[in-house]
Amino acid sequence: MVLTVGISRIHFPVTTLGPGRRLGIWFQGCSLRCEGCISVDTWATAKTLIPIEQLMMKLSSYLPLIDGITISGGEPFDQFEALLAIVVQLRERTKVDILVYTGYAVEDITDQLQQIKPYIDVLISDPFQRQSSQTLRLRGSDNQRLHCFTSQAVEKFAYYQQAVTTEDKVLDVMFDAEGVVWFAGIPRRDDFVKLHNLLKQQGHQIKVTADKTKY
Ligand code: SF4
Repeated sequence: MVLTVGISRIHFPVTTLGPGRRLGIWFQGCSLRCEGCISVDTWATAKTLIPIEQLMMKLSSYLPLIDGITISGGEPFDQFEALLAIVVQLRERTKVDILVYTGYAVEDITDQLQQIKPYIDVLISDPFQRQSSQTLRLRGSDNQRLHCFTSQAVEKFAYYQQAVTTEDKVLDVMFDAEGVVWFAGIPRRDDFVKLHNLLKQQGHQIKVTADKTKY
């Protein structure tokens, strides 16, 4: 049987989700549904699944250019078999650091973690909590934990173990082939609400991908 995966987006370069110019891979589908999630468009199960082999061909073309890889979602661990296959193959082909986000607590994915740990450098775990403070780099809420599994990770991610500063208040802005604008990074609380209101005040009509999401 061909192993497939539901992917929301792939983008390079992403500069706000870890050190350097990174390859970003967003999984499609999330069963966790955290209140206040800003990635509601990635909740629905993917309508189209692609074979891992096909995905790897696409990812491989970026590998000579990248400083690191960030895998997010959606919830990557909801498609664990595919996630594992992807990181195993990426690890065979590149030495750059691999960061994976999950909304699960590590205590709830111990079996999967044991399998995936040899192939990734960093895991950021735990669900987004709207009420938690937001003072930590790379994390949307302070309950989220950053785990380093390799010496490369300890060195490269030491900066991200510190508290957020104004320098961190940046987002990547991308435009896709259909003219859709989208953002990568960790917005401060209500940043998108403020942007939405500002654009509306200026007379713009706004459609967000979450409006079109069926879940
Ligand atoms: S796990 Fe991530 S994508 Fe899923 S609902 Fe929570 S914040 Fe959103």
